[in-house]
Formats: sequence, C-alpha cells, structure tokens
Amino acid sequence: MDEDAAPPGVQVIWPREVPLGGPRAMRVRRTLPARERSLVGAWCFVDHYGPDDVADTGGMSVAPHPHIGLQTVSWLFTGEVEHRDSAGHHALVRPGEVNLMTAGRGISHSEVSTPGTRVLHGAQLWMALPEAARHSAPSFAHHVPTPRTGPGWTLRLLLGSLLGETSPVPTFSPLVGAEILLDPGARLELPVDPAYELAVLVDRGVVGVAGQEVKEHCLGVLPPGRDRLVLTAYDAGARLLLLGGTPFEEEIVMWWNFVGRSHEEIVASREEWQRQITRDGSVVGDSQELADGRFGVVVGDHLPPIPAPVLPHVRLRPRR
Ligand code: MN
Repeated sequence: MDEDAAPPGVQVIWPREVPLGGPRAMRVRRTLPARERSLVGAWCFVDHYGPDDVADTGGMSVAPHPHIGLQTVSWLFTGEVEHRDSAGHHALVRPGEVNLMTAGRGISHSEVSTPGTRVLHGAQLWMALPEAARHSAPSFAHHVPTPRTGPGWTLRLLLGSLLGETSPVPTFSPLVGAEILLDPGARLELPVDPAYELAVLVDRGVVGVAGQEVKEHCLGVLPPGRDRLVLTAYDAGARLLLLGGTPFEEEIVMWWNFVGRSHEEIVASREEWQRQITRDGSVVGDSQELADGRFGVVVGDHLPPIPAPVLPHVRLRPRR
C-alpha cells in the first residue's frame, strides 16, 4: 500500500523514529503527536518500541524527569521496567499489566528496564488531563486486566469500558484503551461509543480497520460517528492497541514532558525543574540531591536527573 493511498475514512499516521535518550539512545516509533494530528480523544502521545534486543540497544534507562498535566500509561508486550516516582511509588511494569501515572500539578519519575530483561517491547502512551483535573495531586494506579476471549481474539481492557466491562483505572475524560490479539484470519466486531474518535496502533501484522488496511507500526485513526468497529487480521494474525475518546475540546500547549495551556506555564514549569536539579550552577549527579519543589524527589533513584532542553526561540503555540 502506498503511503498516500489510504481510502477516506481511516487516517493513517506513519511512525517517525525518535531517540528516547540514555547512553545508547534506544529508539522509539512515535505516531502522536504527528504533523497531521495532535490528539485522538485525550490521547496526546503514542510511543511504540521493540521488540528490541537489550544487548544491542542498552535497554531503557530514562533518568528522573518531570511531568505536568497528563497521565502516562506504560504497557509492555515483552520485558520488565522498573518505575519510581516522586510520589513514592515503586512498581514493576510487566506485560499485560496497566501502570498509570497521573502527573496532575507535577511529578517526576524514572523508568529503567530490569537487569533480567533481554527483549523490550511495548508502548508509552499519554493522555492530556482536562482543566478540572490537571491541578490535582500526583498519583499512580496498577491494574491487571483479566483477558477476555472470543473466536480468534483476546482482549485486555486497560482503560474505560468495552464489551460490558469497565476498567477500575481512574481517568478524567471519556476514553478507552485495550490490547487486542487476533488469530490469523480473525474478525472482531466491537460495539463502540459513537462519540469517540478511535485509533488503532498496529503492533504486529496488518489489521483491517473498518475494512481498510493499516500496516504494522502505523496508527489508523477514525472520526466519531460509528457504533461498531470491525477489526480483521490477515494470514499472520495481529496484535494492536485500540485507543479512543471524545474529542478533547481544550487547546493544549505541549512541549517536552509538559502538557499545559500557555507558553508562560511551560516556561515556568521548565524553570522550576531546572531550579530543582541545579546546585551551584551545575546539574546534580544524584537525583537524591534535588532541591525541594513541585516535582519532588524520585524515591530511591540515584541517576542524574535529565535537564530540560533549551526552549525554542518562538512562542509555543496551542494545538488541537
Ligand atoms: Mn516520563
């Protein structure tokens, strides 16, 4: 399929490769935000990686860094990642388990693959918090969904509601997230909320999304207005993440790890982080030496914190 040949209906976003940081810079495939689209519901960031041999990439080593105004979902297909944050949460992120961090007004965290991890394969997803929730205290939730099965498919519900099941993981705008495995040739017809925009991130295989082919690693996006979604697999079977939600009506300003509402808010958040991680003009070598402040101190992490990049010379602009 030619990159521009998608029929109307499904917007296909092709991933771009981005280095995640760390000494050997593990690379991720980013489909949101994209030039052509910023959000699907409240979902504002979709990073997909692997399967990577940790012996080649060095694995994941993301030192303490701050967030505001968003929730993060860490979802693994293979491997294990250790999460630590400034609200005192320490969690092992494992395949098939939802780990959701709510940044609220400010949090810092680190994510490091465990020494026993040989292959790393997963996704890191962000949702923008609406105004009513974005100044809340940071929090963390862990949930192990029970797999649902039917003819040729297995579904794990991460967030929201599907097939009469509702995830207990707290969210702040109407949205859904699920992992779906399709056997070769399988067809799954899902009742969906017509108010939702939907996106299918294809992890493995090729997926028919409402009758239109979406290739491996691509994000296929559908506008609101349908009450059923048909997903089909071809000869090889497939695995995908289904994401969706009501269109996010607030304009957001997104830069680095911050989701805010204005240029000034982002600048102030960046300055606060830089103030916390700097002593006598240089960045501290151990995250336990951070100064007091909104982003706290990641409990139990000793890596040097990640400094914020330099701001662009132009004002940051809102996106929809
Ligand atoms: Mn993060």
